[in-house]
Amino acid sequence: MYLKNTIPLLLLLFFHSTFSQNNYQPLNTVSKDESQLLDQYENRLQSFIKNISTSDKDKKTDKENFYNRRNNRLTHYIENGHLIFDEDINLFFQDILDEVVRKNPSLQDLEMRLFVSRYFWPNATCYGEGTLIFNLGLLRRLENEDQVAFIVCHEIAHYYMDHVEHDMHERVEYLHSEELQEQLNRIKKEEYGQYDKASQLLKDYIYDDRRHGRLHEEEADSLGYEFMKHTRYDVSQAVRALEILDEIDHEKYEMDIHIRTLFTFENYTFRDRWLDKEEGMLYQKNLEARNDGEWNSDSLKTHPDCDERMRLMTGLSGKESIPIKGNETFLEFVKQADYEIVQSSFDFGFYGRSLYYAMQLLQHDSDNEYLIRMIGQNLVYLCHAQKKHEFAKHVEKPHSRNEAQYDLLLNFLQNLRFRELALLGYHYHQEHATPTRLEHEDFLFHALLSSYLAKQESSLESYKDMYQKQFGSDGQYNDIIQTLQID
Ligand SMILES: [Zn+2]
Repeated sequence: MYLKNTIPLLLLLFFHSTFSQNNYQPLNTVSKDESQLLDQYENRLQSFIKNISTSDKDKKTDKENFYNRRNNRLTHYIENGHLIFDEDINLFFQDILDEVVRKNPSLQDLEMRLFVSRYFWPNATCYGEGTLIFNLGLLRRLENEDQVAFIVCHEIAHYYMDHVEHDMHERVEYLHSEELQEQLNRIKKEEYGQYDKASQLLKDYIYDDRRHGRLHEEEADSLGYEFMKHTRYDVSQAVRALEILDEIDHEKYEMDIHIRTLFTFENYTFRDRWLDKEEGMLYQKNLEARNDGEWNSDSLKTHPDCDERMRLMTGLSGKESIPIKGNETFLEFVKQADYEIVQSSFDFGFYGRSLYYAMQLLQHDSDNEYLIRMIGQNLVYLCHAQKKHEFAKHVEKPHSRNEAQYDLLLNFLQNLRFRELALLGYHYHQEHATPTRLEHEDFLFHALLSSYLAKQESSLESYKDMYQKQFGSDGQYNDIIQTLQID
C-alpha cells in the first residue's frame, strides 16, 4: 500500500493506541440546552444595552450596535455547529475553569462560560461578556492540561480587567472626538493628498490600537499567572505555553504529505506541471471566518511579542520552559482535535485545508477509513467549487508565509484545471472503491459525484444502481442523485 514504508517508526508507536483506526466520530455540536442558552444571551444583551451610560445619542447607538453584533455572532456560533457539546471535552474544560475560580476568591462573582470551538486556527478568545472560547486548533498544539489552564487563566484575566469593554469604549470615544472631526475637516479642505492624509490617520490609529493590544496581552499574562499560581496547575507550563505560541506558525506535523504518491493512479498520470510553483503570487485573505472581528481583543499570539512575553513570564515565575507530556486523557483529546479539524474545516467550507489536514494525518494512520473518505470528499467539493467559479472562497492562495507543505498543496490545487481536478477525484475514488467502502453511504455518494463531475457515464449509472439497492429512497442523498444527469 502507498505511503506505508515512509512512516517513521516513532510516529507509528505514538499513534498505535486506543484512538483506533477507524472509530473517529465527529463530536457533537448541538447543545441540549440550546434554547435556554439563547435566552440567557438575549437577557445579557438587554442588560448590557440598558447599562450604556452616555447621553450622547450617536455614541449610544454605536455601543448598542457593538453589543448586538457581538451577541449575534455568539448566538450564530451556538446555532450553527461552531461549538462542541461533548460531555468529556466540556467537562475537562469546565474542571479547569472551576479550579481557577475556586482558588481565586476575586473571581467568584464573575459569571463565565467556557466553550470549545471547532476552529482550526490556534487561538482562544475573550468576548467581554463572560464568554470565553477555546479553539480546538489551539488544544491540538498544546502538550498538557497545565498549558491549557494557563491560557484559560489568561482569558479570564482579560475578562476580569474588562479589556473588551474598555477597547470598545475608547474606539467609540475616538470616532466621535472633536479631535478626529477637526483633523478630518482639515483634510477635506486640502486640495491635494486627501487620500494619503486620511490613510495616515487610519494607520496611526491602527498602530496605536496594536500597541494597546500588546499591553493588554502582557497584563493578561501576568494577572493570568497570578490566578494560576493559586491552583493545582504547574506554573512552569505558563512559560512553555508562551514558547509554543511563539512557534505556532509552524505546522504541528512537519512531514512530507506526498502529493505525487497519493495522486498517481494506474489510469491517470501525474503531471509534473501540477507541482510548478508560480512566483510572486499575492496572498489573498479570503477566509473571512478567520477574522474574529473587533471584539477579539485577543489574538493570543501577537508576533513579535511572544519573545518579550516569555521573558516577562520567566521573570515572574522564575521558571524555565520545560516540555512535559500530558496524561493519557489529555493526549486523547489532542488526537480527537487533530481529526476534528479535518471535519470542521470541511464543514466550514475550507476544503483546501481539510484536504491538507487529512493528508497529514494519513501519514501516521494510512489505513484510516475516515481519512481516505475525507480526501475523496474534499476533491469532489473542490471540483464542484471550481465548476461554480467559487474556488477562491474555499481555497487560500499560495504564499511563502504558509507552512511549506501546505503551500505545496495550495500550489498544486491552483495548477489544476477543472477537467484535471474532476479526473483526479474520479480516479481517486475508482482506486479506493473496495466492496466494503462502497457499502458506506458517504463514500459511495462521493464516488458517484466524482463520476458525474468527470462525465464518466457508465460508472455513474452503476453507482446509481448500487445506491438504489443499498439505500433506496431512504438514502440521505437520494434526492440529489435523482437530479444527476450527464449532458
Ligand atoms: Zn490575550
